[in-house]
Amino acid sequence: MKWLLILVLLVGWFDTQSYAVTVLLDPGHGGSDMGAKMFYAYVDKYGRKRNLHVLEKDLSLIFAKKIQQKLKKQGVVVHLSRSYDHEISLDARAALAQKLKADIFISIHMNASTNRTSRGFETFYLDNHNDVAVKKVEDIENVGLTGDQLIIKQIITDLIVERTAKASKSLAESVHAGIKKKTHKSFNLKDRGIKPGLFYVLAMAKRPGILLEVSFLSNPKELKKVLTSEFQEAYSKAVAAGVISYLRK
Ligand SMILES: [Zn+2]
Repeated sequence: MKWLLILVLLVGWFDTQSYAVTVLLDPGHGGSDMGAKMFYAYVDKYGRKRNLHVLEKDLSLIFAKKIQQKLKKQGVVVHLSRSYDHEISLDARAALAQKLKADIFISIHMNASTNRTSRGFETFYLDNHNDVAVKKVEDIENVGLTGDQLIIKQIITDLIVERTAKASKSLAESVHAGIKKKTHKSFNLKDRGIKPGLFYVLAMAKRPGILLEVSFLSNPKELKKVLTSEFQEAYSKAVAAGVISYLRK
């Protein structure tokens, strides 16, 4: 009986132990930069036809806040690069990571494509590569960069990549596996895989970082899915579980 009590106490301790790390969650876009935009047509409970304007900047914030809540429960210190709808440059987001001495940087985005059948979730980590398909996504998420930033981008990225690529990839694997476990079957979310990418915000943040594309707003079925609290909860829990599993490694 005494041993059982000790065991229960130990499990409880492991369950609530805090992690000496700081995570910076970065909800993509904000303010006049809305990210992907989509209309969601539905019929309300009074039978009236409604048209909801869905914006990536709003959803990225919803997911970031939910992930923050889940991680905080696990004793992780979590900050958001923005906690309401306002514009914040990629440089300011990266500078915040430096200021907070964040150990991990996670940028959250929603995907969109001109092909309405494109679907699924994907995880990017900072790395060098020449993949054309990935380049397209990078261009969307790197929007707002000007001349000088583009020139220094390559130089800085090369140095940072060397230092953080291994940890970024490991973080990507843990988080991606967490998402797959909780959404692949239960929400029929297609696994598009883990991909290397050169994202300015990840490079400038100068720490292990990943960029999540939750799913495609341009796909009507996925749009409906991401608007449900069931999916938002499951996805956020999955990301938090993935981060915890990375920290335990
Ligand atoms: Zn985005």
